[in-house]
This record gives sequence, C-alpha cells and structure tokens, in this order.
Amino acid sequence: MLIAAGMADAQQPGSQQPQKRADTFGRVARPRFVEFVDSTAPQTKYNYTETFAPFFYTKNGNEYRAATGEPGPKYWQNRADYQLAAKLNDETNEITGTEVLTYTNNSPLKMNFIWMQLDQNLFRQDSRGSAIVPIGGSRNGGHGQVFDAGYKIKSVKVLSGPNNTIATDVKYLIDDTRMQVLLPNELNANGGVLKLKIEYSFISPDYGSDRMGILKTKNGKIFTIAQWYPRMCVFDDVMGWNTLPYTGPGEFFLEYGDFDLKITVAAKDIVVASGELLNPQEVYTPEQVKRWAQAANSDKTVMIRTPEEVTDPKSRPAGKSELTWHFRIKNARDASWAASSSFVVDAARMNLPGGKKSLAISAYPAESAGEAAWGRSTEFVKGSIEFNSKMWYEYPYPAATAVAGTPGGMEYPGIVFCGATARGRGLWGVNDHEFGHTWFPMIVGSNERLYGWMDEGFNTFINTLSTANFNNGEYKPARPVDAERMAQFFTAPTLEPILSNGPDNLKERNNGTLLYSKPSAGLVLLREQILGPERFDYAFKTYIKRWAFKHPTPDDFFRTIENVSGESLQWFWRGWFVNNWRLDVAVRSVKYVDSTNYSKGAYITLDNLEKMAMPVILEIKMKNGKTDRAKLPVEIWERNTSWTFKYPSTEEIESVTYDPDKVMPDFNPANNVWKKQ
Ligand SMILES: [Zn+2]
Repeated sequence: MLIAAGMADAQQPGSQQPQKRADTFGRVARPRFVEFVDSTAPQTKYNYTETFAPFFYTKNGNEYRAATGEPGPKYWQNRADYQLAAKLNDETNEITGTEVLTYTNNSPLKMNFIWMQLDQNLFRQDSRGSAIVPIGGSRNGGHGQVFDAGYKIKSVKVLSGPNNTIATDVKYLIDDTRMQVLLPNELNANGGVLKLKIEYSFISPDYGSDRMGILKTKNGKIFTIAQWYPRMCVFDDVMGWNTLPYTGPGEFFLEYGDFDLKITVAAKDIVVASGELLNPQEVYTPEQVKRWAQAANSDKTVMIRTPEEVTDPKSRPAGKSELTWHFRIKNARDASWAASSSFVVDAARMNLPGGKKSLAISAYPAESAGEAAWGRSTEFVKGSIEFNSKMWYEYPYPAATAVAGTPGGMEYPGIVFCGATARGRGLWGVNDHEFGHTWFPMIVGSNERLYGWMDEGFNTFINTLSTANFNNGEYKPARPVDAERMAQFFTAPTLEPILSNGPDNLKERNNGTLLYSKPSAGLVLLREQILGPERFDYAFKTYIKRWAFKHPTPDDFFRTIENVSGESLQWFWRGWFVNNWRLDVAVRSVKYVDSTNYSKGAYITLDNLEKMAMPVILEIKMKNGKTDRAKLPVEIWERNTSWTFKYPSTEEIESVTYDPDKVMPDFNPANNVWKKQ
C-alpha cells in the first residue's frame, strides 16, 4: 500500500493550511490531518500505546492449545479414576481409608514418579499453611486447633499382575502437602496405566480451612468431609507437574475420572455424597425409599426424613450397628461426603433442558429446619441448577446435595457444604453460589490454585443472572449496581492485580474483591457495555463447551472470547485483569460551531485521565429539557488522550453527563458532568 498523500503533507510545515488548488483530477483537497495544539488539555496518566500495545499474548497458539482459544488437535489430559472406601469413627473423628487409584498417562512423556496431594497435612502445626497464618488470624488453616493432624500413610503399593493381585510396596517421599511416589517401572506415555493402592487415615479438624470439618448439633455431629484421600496432582502441557502446596488460600486443581465411594458409618448416621446412591434399600427404611421415589417425580420438595423423625429410631433401618453407603459419580474432578445422625433430608426433581432429570437434595439438622431457613434449600438448589443448565451447560450429575455444616460455603462435584445458620436471601445466595461452582471449576476445570478468579469470579458473574431470575426476582437487588462507586474499591491503588500469582499472592482482605467481585464486574462490563449480551453469551457458552471437563488457562479464556466475539479485547484484559488500572474520563468543554446559531452543532471535548480505556456513553441535555444519548467506541482512545467530536445540537446545551447510568468503572465522578455556566 502506498503512503497516502495527506500523511506526507502533514509532516510538512504549513501543511495545515487548507489547500484550495485543484489536483490533476479536478479535486480540491480538504484540510485533512489537522491536529490542533490543545493548550487547555489537562495532565493525564493515559498512554494509548501502552493500553493498546501489541504482543499481549506471550506465546502463539500451538497444537495443544490453539490460537483460537480452543483445545488444539493434540490436546491431552491425564485421567484419575478412584475406588475409595472409608470408615468414620464419630467418637475420635478419625477417617480410615483405602484408595485404589487408576492413573492413565495420556501425555507424550514417560514418568518415573508421580505427585499426589496430601491436603490434610495443612492442619499440622509444622505445615507451611500453619506458618503463614498472621497473628490476627485467618479464614484458612485450622483456627489453631492442636490435635494429631495430617495424613498417616500406612502403605503405598503398586498393583500389577492378573487382576492386579500382585501388590508391591513402593518408595514415597512426603513434603508438606505433597507426596512423590517413585515408580518401580517407568509409566508409559500415550495411555500407560498405573494402579496404586494407598492405605491411610487422618483425624478431621473441627474447622478445615472453611472447606470441611465438624459441626456439633443437638442430635449429633455433622461431618462434612473433603480433601479426604490422596489426590493426583495435575500433569499438563503448561507446567508439567502442578505441585504448588495447599497452604489454605488457593483451592484445587484436579484430574477428571470416575469415583466409586463406599462410606461405612454407624447405622444411626445418614450419609450424603457426590453422585448417585447405589444401595438405597440397604441404608434407608422402606418408607424412606418410597419417599425418594416420590421426590424423583415431584417439583415440590418432598420430606424424606422430617425434623420430628430425626430422634425416632424407626427412621433408621433396624438390626445393624454399621452400614456401608455406596455412591458413584462419573466424570468428576473430586468427590466428597457428609455424615450425621442429625440429618433432616428432603428432595425434589430437577428438570434439565435436554429432558434429563436430576435430584436436588438437602441435608440439615433440625435446628436449621423451617421455611425461613433450610426448609427452602432444595427449592433454591433446583432453581439455581435449572437456570444455569438452561443458560450455559447442562448439569452433568444425577444428584445435587446441599449440606448444612460448619463451612460458610464450599463446593464439590454434586455436593456443597453451606453454613447451617444461613437463611432466606443468605441461604439462596450461598446455595446458588456453591452450586454455581458446578460450571466453574467442576465442569470447566481451571487451575484454582493459581487462578481463583477463573472459578470464583466467573461463578459470581453467573450468580448475578440466576439471582435476578429466581422466583420472579425474589432476591434480585433492589437497585442496579453503581459501577462508579464500586470502581473506587475495584481499582483502589492498594490492590494487587487480578492476575497475580494465585490467591497465595494476595492479601487475604483483598480476596473478596480480586477473586470474586472484580472479575465478575469485568464480565458484566464485557457483556453489557463492550460486546452486548448476545455476542458475550455465545462466546462465554463456547468457552464452557470447549473446556468442559478440561483444563483451560487464562489465555485460553481470553483467546476464546476474542475469537468467538470477533473483537480484540487486549486493552480490556490489560487494564482490568493484568493490571490494576483505573478509569477516569472527564467532560471538559462544549463549544459551538457557530456561537450565534446552536443548530450548527457543538464540539464536545472529553479527557481520558487515567490508564484505562472504555467506550463512552454521554447524556446530552438540551435547554428545552430534552435529552439525547451519544455513544463513542473505545477506538477514540486508541491514539488520543483527549477527544473532541461534533454533536449535532439543535439548540443550546444545558449539560453533558458522562456515564449517566453509572455503568462504567469511572472511579472519579466529580468531573463527569459539564454544565452551562
Ligand atoms: Zn466460591
């Protein structure tokens, strides 16, 4: 392409003079490329070549992860299938377990060792997680409980031979919350299978980093049990082994597989777990089995065990001191369970968009019962999951159980633990949030230990839509969010960027903003202000579908949204996610083309004063009281720190207001309104 004549002319002194002479084609040149020196422009931090810089992505797409943001043709992922049998001692709080792991190495690399996660070691006094609890306390760790904490590994054996009948002890090394298992024989690449048997035990902490633990109720303890078996670390094309320790703040990164669970407890206890109960006839009474069948056909909640029945021995099968509960969940990244003699249980059918059914279940103590509290839990679970299934991706599991326990709110595949004292709006909020995690990170299995915002933030975003929808807006916020006010918190200079090196890299007090509300607000901005709901929803749905039951990175997300929406959004990722940049746009002036005739139009001048850029919305109020809106694309900021445009005014302008609906994260509203003097 040839350089345009006007561009060359603009470099010459005097070229700003309008040229009246006709060229060889008879055209009279118009005064193009006239840049006025703007002596009234304020000081600004805005640097458009920085905001719109190239090379956002530090690497190109490849055959594992494509430039489009989807898994590449050679994407691979390893697999971990678990057979887990555990016995609970409800006096000593000890869990004794046997794990048979089938690990499939689909990577192109052979392995001489594997890494596993021993999360219970966090609660040892000498753990790294205990060491980083500040004097002022923390939500994480064990709240200072001194007990015989951590995994006791009795044996680690490789199974081989016909029907895996040969068990060979293998060497293992434990460091903090990780265990390295040294393999006697190299594990083959491209589908090599390892069978490992581990015998272990641990004592449950009362408070397990707000993710598990024990709640005492009048009718018995509620055990909410998670991080309860040695779990495979993820081996991937991004980091190789992902071995960051469990110190408390960062959650989990796990392989997918099928789980078979056998939980043995005292016969008085009821167990709920991830997935489907395979032996209801053995563990419930005949009357309760009948009620389960009713619930499976009912959109209204059906009581399986009422609060009154909890203390009635007839509400448990007779004649046995112990019972083994058998559950199965397929294609999941984890499995958890809860047990208690105190459980009230109810359930209702969930109707999924593909015509499939699932079951919403709640288990809670009598103290939490009643319509104002957990009596509505199952209705909430059903409302949340049915909505998100329709909106994003179908719920993949046969059951969804909400358990009232000691964690404030914690998610696992097919089961969540929520505060036993939650009620009303708070209970809706926590049930909706924890089951919203089905989509992030249970379906879309991102690395929570490093990128908490990709599960908490994305989930918080979908919660805004499910909450607005539930029961004709019963819990919809009364007023829309004031993005300008929120921006003062979201972009406060004391905050770290969202894309820091994981939750472990953030001040604990900033977690709520940086993992939850700020990334969620970022998606609201993308959906409502930058792409529009139709383009955003399709792109976001595509991200979920592409990465369902896989392991996306932030780049895979950014690239997918850009490719599917057809929009370069690197300026936005850079300002909101990679940096903690602020937005401050000012309306500087209004000048008329002809001050004696307002109908000839007005020049409106805006300044961009901070490091971030966004599209512009203006409300222009005329003297006669009429208002009008003007929208300008973000491209006005691609090579300008100030921008003047001609507004087709028909009469005198009374005021110009930037961001009249307060939907932009402009932290300084003081300069947003220009008023006629
Ligand atoms: Zn969450």
